[in-house]
Amino acid sequence: MSSEQRRAATYLRISQDRENTRLGVDRHREDAEALIAARQWAPVGVYEDNDISGKGHKKRPAFERLLKDIGSGLIDVVVAQEWPRLERNRADGVRIIEAAQRDHVLLTFAKGSDIDCTTAAGRLSADMFSAIARNEIEVKAERQSRAQRQRAEQGRPPKGVRPLGYASNGDVIEHEAEAVRKIYAAFSSGASLRAIAAALSGGESENLPSIPPLPRHNRSLMIERNVRRAGDGLEPRPVPDDSPWVSSTIMGILRNPRYAGYSTYTPKEVLANGDRRRSWRAQILRDDHGEPILGTWNRIVDLDAWEAVQDRLDDPARVTNRVGTDRKHLGSGLYRCGVCDKPVKTHSQRYRCEGHVMRSREQIDDFVVETVRRRLQLPDLHDLLPSADEPRMREIKLEIAEHQARIHRAQRDYDNELIEGFDLKRIRDRENAAIDTLEVDRLRLSLGISHNSVLEAPDRLAAFDAGDLGLRRSTIEVLCEVRLFPHPRGVKTFNSDSVSIMWRSAIAD
Ligand SMILES: [Zn+2]
Repeated sequence: MSSEQRRAATYLRISQDRENTRLGVDRHREDAEALIAARQWAPVGVYEDNDISGKGHKKRPAFERLLKDIGSGLIDVVVAQEWPRLERNRADGVRIIEAAQRDHVLLTFAKGSDIDCTTAAGRLSADMFSAIARNEIEVKAERQSRAQRQRAEQGRPPKGVRPLGYASNGDVIEHEAEAVRKIYAAFSSGASLRAIAAALSGGESENLPSIPPLPRHNRSLMIERNVRRAGDGLEPRPVPDDSPWVSSTIMGILRNPRYAGYSTYTPKEVLANGDRRRSWRAQILRDDHGEPILGTWNRIVDLDAWEAVQDRLDDPARVTNRVGTDRKHLGSGLYRCGVCDKPVKTHSQRYRCEGHVMRSREQIDDFVVETVRRRLQLPDLHDLLPSADEPRMREIKLEIAEHQARIHRAQRDYDNELIEGFDLKRIRDRENAAIDTLEVDRLRLSLGISHNSVLEAPDRLAAFDAGDLGLRRSTIEVLCEVRLFPHPRGVKTFNSDSVSIMWRSAIAD
């Protein structure tokens, strides 16, 4: 008789959504034991997952082991408290049902009816069961997004992660708001995203003395979350060390219409395109007359300033100008040290790479400008420009698609409540940063040269001479690489051999 006894595994999951304590799970275990005894099954083990631990809460090791043991033919029955405990999310629900269907396993619950995959009829109802579960999730998501839209139409602050400068209820947090205003001001006056990120991180902040160091917003949010968790009697989640600000976060701040007082709503379709940041303007909610709906919160940045920043962000020429506009001298950060290849810095009247080169700024700049001016006058200019690298372009496109796919997956996991908003944001920030870098590469490869107004001008020399520092720097950057070598000892006059100018076309070959 015992050889025909069905082998029953118990699955338990501790989760914080329904019960906060172990007590609930102990009761679940007792219920399962009673059920197994009543049906005269042979207990073959307890599979227990802890869903509330901060670390790796995406994974359910016991659940995975359970699937594996079902596949190995070790289990005839799975006992759990109720279907949601076992399922947790749509994807896992489908996996367990498929495993049960394949190996003819009975899924039985202390609360709720069985999913009996030992019979054809049972397997069919299992299909329906998982379809219903799926539908519930979709309905819930729809309801949430309708509620969000309604909030936005009423101009109420959106639920979810609070942006820098605002509390969850829409109140202005003054010291953060001040940082937001300074970020907008710095960007408007020509600072690069990277320079702003560095200044906020408390690092080297060339020409950006007005931006104060600030803890990274993500970190502030995590600390706040732990305060709330402590209030609910929960264990704190780990807060990572304060890492530096990244450009994509600055981009997100500069793009956010909420700072200008606009009420926003992001339809799912927009998110699905993975194009959220590039379509911030499209997120501004409009009334029936097409007028933007304003939020009930106070704006931190005025409308004109916000719009001006969007225009600048939308200008593709900005991206090609890798060297940035926040430099005072022609060659600082642009010319390289001939000894170690690092960009040189400005040191009073000189360009310097410490311990390697120290050269008169005026002499070098005159020489570089004269060389570039001569080159601009030659008819074969286009031979000097790097050509588009088609295989690399294709590679970049694939890499970008891969990063976008990761964002989509994270979005789906978030919708299915597999991961939290913080995780989603972290993944999105990380992937977007990678995409930003790749897009700069792509731009540089494809139209890096076509957006330089000097090279497009009918009279290039005149355009170069009339150009401002930023335009001259980007022209030099597009055309060539400049390296400075130590000046030969004992030579008083300027020696042009000690400066190397390599045309880009020569580098590409
Ligand atoms: Zn050096």
